Amino acid sequence: MKDEIKLIIPSRSANEGYARVAVGAFITRFDPTLEELNDIKTAVSEAVTNCIVHAYKDTIGLIYITVSADKGIVKIRIRDRGCGIPDIARAKEPLFTTGGEERAGLGFAVMESFTDKLTVRSTVGKGTTVTLQKRLKVKDDGQK
Ligand code: ATP
Ligand code: MG
Repeated sequence: MKDEIKLIIPSRSANEGYARVAVGAFITRFDPTLEELNDIKTAVSEAVTNCIVHAYKDTIGLIYITVSADKGIVKIRIRDRGCGIPDIARAKEPLFTTGGEERAGLGFAVMESFTDKLTVRSTVGKGTTVTLQKRLKVKDDGQK
C-alpha cells in the first residue's frame, strides 16, 4: 500500500499549527535534513493559512491534506471547498493580496521558493487545490 496520510481538519486558526506539526512528523520518516523539514513545514503553513483566512473567510470549513513520498519526492496536497481564486496567475504574484493591511501577499512566493514545484488549481465557488513537491537530498550513505 502507498505510504500516504490524509488529514481532514476544520479551518480554525489553532489548527494551522497542528497541520504543520502533523505533516512534519509524518515526513520525518523519509529522513529529511532539518532545512528540508523546516522548508516543507513553512510551505504547508502558508497553504493552510490561506484556506483559513481566504477560502473560508467568514466561515469554518474543512481542509483536506494528503501527504505522500515516492522515490525521495515528498508531495503534499492541500484542498479546500471555499470561495476559489478567480485569477491564479495574479494571486501568485508577490505582494498581491485581497487580505488588506494584515497580509503581505507573499504566501505563494514562500511556497514557491521553499519547495521545488507549486501547482494551484481553483474554481470560483468550489474551492482550491494547492500541490507542493519537494525532492529530498540523497544522503552520503546513498539511502532514500
Ligand atoms: P500572506 O500569505 O503574505 O499573509 P496573502 O495570503 O494575501 O498574504 P498569498 O498567500 O500569496 O498572500 O495569496 C495571495 C492571494 O491569493 C490571497 O490574498 C487570496 O486572494 C488568494 N488565495 C490564496 N489562497 C487562497 C485560497 N485557498 N482560497 C481563496 N483565495 C486564496
Ligand atoms: Mg497567504
